[in-house]
Amino acid sequence: MRVYYCYNLGMKKINEYIQFLPMSEGPLSADVYVISVDNKTFVFDIGSSDESYALVNSLDNPIYIISHFHEDHMGNINRLENGLIYLSKYSYDKSKKGIVIDKDTDLSSHVKIVLIPSSHSKGSLGLKVNEYLFVGDALYSGMNKGRPSYNQNTLKETIDLINSMDAQFVIMSHDETIFSKDEIVVKLSKIYQKRIKNDPYIYVD
Ligand SMILES: [Zn+2]
Repeated sequence: MRVYYCYNLGMKKINEYIQFLPMSEGPLSADVYVISVDNKTFVFDIGSSDESYALVNSLDNPIYIISHFHEDHMGNINRLENGLIYLSKYSYDKSKKGIVIDKDTDLSSHVKIVLIPSSHSKGSLGLKVNEYLFVGDALYSGMNKGRPSYNQNTLKETIDLINSMDAQFVIMSHDETIFSKDEIVVKLSKIYQKRIKNDPYIYVD
């Protein structure tokens, strides 16, 4: 699917109701997605840069969802002036702010928070919006013994979850490609096939 440039601020448009501010470096700041649906504005991740802060702060009473506790995804949390914040307990432990989500939660008729088992970070939240599934960094590897790796059992859970989701497209942070769900399942399954018996980790370096 094509992503095309839109308006000012360097925002890009995914469709008529989803735009995002792409990630930036210095400081590392993750993609910020702005979703206007069901007469509400949802923001998936808030970044850590001044640009992403300017964007999220310009919105009228948004609903924020934080994908996971890494700084590039939630660094701006203490600067937020209005709006509801939903996050996992791992993110809450950092911010002491917001509403903790510990199960899949409908936010409106077309928007749902989904818990994603993740080798990248504990307490990863995804957001399902119609046929789109936003996953943040949940499908990326984590680190074990200083090496990028997936936990074998967790990866199996990740694949099963993505497979079971009624979503057509998967959107990952730090990547502007819009993947089909099937592509993602194939990609993760190839990694899973590299597992070695009795080693809980699958190294991908
Ligand atoms: Zn991360």
